[in-house]
Amino acid sequence: MNYYEVAVKVEEVYGELEDEVYRLKCKSNLKCIENCGHCCYKEDVEDTILSFIPLAIYLWEKNLSEYWLNRIKNSEYRGRCIFFEENTDIIDGGKCTIYEKRGLICRLFGFSGNLLKNGEKIFYPCKILKNKNSNAINKVNDMILNGEKIPIMSEYAYKLMSIDLDLATKRYPINTAIRYALEKVGNYFYYETEYKIESELLEEEAI
Ligand code: SF4
Repeated sequence: MNYYEVAVKVEEVYGELEDEVYRLKCKSNLKCIENCGHCCYKEDVEDTILSFIPLAIYLWEKNLSEYWLNRIKNSEYRGRCIFFEENTDIIDGGKCTIYEKRGLICRLFGFSGNLLKNGEKIFYPCKILKNKNSNAINKVNDMILNGEKIPIMSEYAYKLMSIDLDLATKRYPINTAIRYALEKVGNYFYYETEYKIESELLEEEAI
């Protein structure tokens, strides 16, 4: 599998999602509280391997993969995401240190909904915003009542599955999903390099 091509496709889906979230934010005035990292404090965040393939490529290219693999191996199986940087000066404060490369769940959280069995859409707001910006939440609910589009979790999960069913189906604790993504991309780079060296040697021998 060519992980570069896979990463481009995943990032295209993320681009679509960003556009939808942007539209939702503009129409409802829903936005995160500055420096809030509430969602990343959770220790039960799960995502798929595919979700982090773009991050894994980025870290391998920047020569940062070994460092983060060691950090993951020394972290708890079900712990807080290793890329979260806590800010103890504010309640719930903190930030994602790889924001541009974060996974699907991180992009959906607080700005998406899902479909009920009867086809009805339901919005899942973040607990903090529910208490602090109920006007915005009401506007999103009005959007749904008016038949307007909001990002739907299952639709985005299916979009990733259509890129690679195996890598996008099983969900793991977030650090494990990142670890497997790093290992898969690492193997790919290793075998690609080996293959290139072998081909070059064969070409030289043939001359
Ligand atoms: S990748 Fe970033 S946004 Fe996602 S859980 Fe980790 S710190 Fe939070």
